[in-house]
Amino acid sequence: MKKPKKVRRYCPYCKKHTIQKVSLYSSMKHRGTLKWGSIERAKKRGRGVGKGNLGRWGSKPAVGKWKRKTKTTKKTNLAYTCSVCGKTKQQKKGKRAGKMMLEQK
Ligand SMILES: [Zn+2]
Repeated sequence: MKKPKKVRRYCPYCKKHTIQKVSLYSSMKHRGTLKWGSIERAKKRGRGVGKGNLGRWGSKPAVGKWKRKTKTTKKTNLAYTCSVCGKTKQQKKGKRAGKMMLEQK
C-alpha cells in the first residue's frame, strides 16, 4: 500500500484543512525493551558482541510451531503532523496492509 507523504486534511487544532505530513509509526525496531535484564540493555553494556556462539546474547531461538504468527498483515499506524500548528494526530482506524510505503511527492 502506498500513501503520499503530504496530504491535505482537516486539522482539529486549526479547525480547517491544512497540509499535513504523514509519518509511519513502526514497532519492533529493537529487540526487547529497555527493561532491567533485557538483551537490549546487555548489548548496550557490551555483551553479545564478537564471534562464535553467543549463547543467551546471540540470535533468538527458533519459533515453535504453536507460537508462529497467524496474521500476515498488520494494521497501519499513521501520524499526521500539521504544517501550520505542528501538532500531530494519529489516524483513527488503520487499514490492513502487507507493507506500508510513503511515496515521495
Ligand atoms: Zn494545525
